[in-house]
Amino acid sequence: MTKIKSVRARVWNWTGPTVPPQANFCTNAGDALWDRGDSMHSFRFHQWLTCEVEAESGEIGIGNAALAPVLVKAAIDNYYAPLVVGEDPFDYAFLWERMYRKTMAWGRKGVGMTAISAVDIAIWDLMGQLVGKPVFKLLGGRTKEKIPVYYSKLYSDTVDNMQAEASSALGEGYKAFKMRFGFGPKDGMAGMRENLRRVEAVREVVGYDTDLMVEAYMGWNLDYCRRMLPKLEKYEPRWLEEPVIADDIHGYAALNAGPIPISGGEHEYTLFGFRQLLDARAVSVVQYDTNRVGGITAAHKINALAEAYQIPVIPHAGQVHNYHLTMSSPNCPMSEHFPVFDVEIGNELFYYIFEGDPEARDGFLDLDEAAPGLGIRITDKHADNFEIQE
Ligand SMILES: [Mg+2]
Repeated sequence: MTKIKSVRARVWNWTGPTVPPQANFCTNAGDALWDRGDSMHSFRFHQWLTCEVEAESGEIGIGNAALAPVLVKAAIDNYYAPLVVGEDPFDYAFLWERMYRKTMAWGRKGVGMTAISAVDIAIWDLMGQLVGKPVFKLLGGRTKEKIPVYYSKLYSDTVDNMQAEASSALGEGYKAFKMRFGFGPKDGMAGMRENLRRVEAVREVVGYDTDLMVEAYMGWNLDYCRRMLPKLEKYEPRWLEEPVIADDIHGYAALNAGPIPISGGEHEYTLFGFRQLLDARAVSVVQYDTNRVGGITAAHKINALAEAYQIPVIPHAGQVHNYHLTMSSPNCPMSEHFPVFDVEIGNELFYYIFEGDPEARDGFLDLDEAAPGLGIRITDKHADNFEIQE
């Protein structure tokens, strides 16, 4: 039996070129404070965290996280690493519970749970390497030939640019698309019309035989939604994502009782958090992010919980840890997929840190049965464009 020898957390600061976002790029939670400074500030980030868990026998499991990397690194170094070093990685359920319970006073959501997630994902990658199997084979195996993926970009832009982007995504074989709203309460009725014009324009390109998802990234409020949703309905969105702030569970539930399915969960944490969402009938699609929610150990439990409620799970973000969970659960019908792109918001950074992420082809992707663990490695291909904090 091998034991965990060390845990290494690193922060990757992107110093390379970035694409500046256009105006009204995407609504977000900061919009409510729109007349007091830059509301995009909290939306863009150009940092990532990697977490490497090394076994005494030399194998290294890799986890990662994107939220508050500097704080997450400090939490791992000071609190979580000492709780797993010297232990058997296959005792993952015990190790998860130990990390959770020893930091109960402050670690349950946010930075603490993100740190637990990064360590847990690395432990799963390590277990896969130690037994020579991909992680999805340890979770339930293959439940689908390939994973359908949806094209996730279409940030709010000019109608022409959005139509051109939708058309090129359609040409690449995608059959499902997610677009972002750029206008919210501060933009009044005129902004509502701008939003609707863009949904109509994208539908014009992708037709009505594809799935179109729409996303507000917590930039609206309940009052705005009550006026906006009836106008949206005729465009047949598969779901409306995070219409209101993540803590407003009652707001989600009120909207989800209407005809447009409401999705959310990328800012929710742990099995207990999702039980609250599901009990409240707050969402029609669960969208945890494995590297926030508590890692693969927590996400696997939430897949089963949501299945009992007959609510599908479509995790937030592409990323290989989410794909392994999607592949292994019959309750996960598809995956989000960020196309490879220049660094813009920051959620593309993982493509520059890792190699081995599966590529989407014709709207599907597959996982390599021959690649043990999660199947990704840290690459130095873009090392010149990062400052790394050890
Ligand atoms: Mg989202």
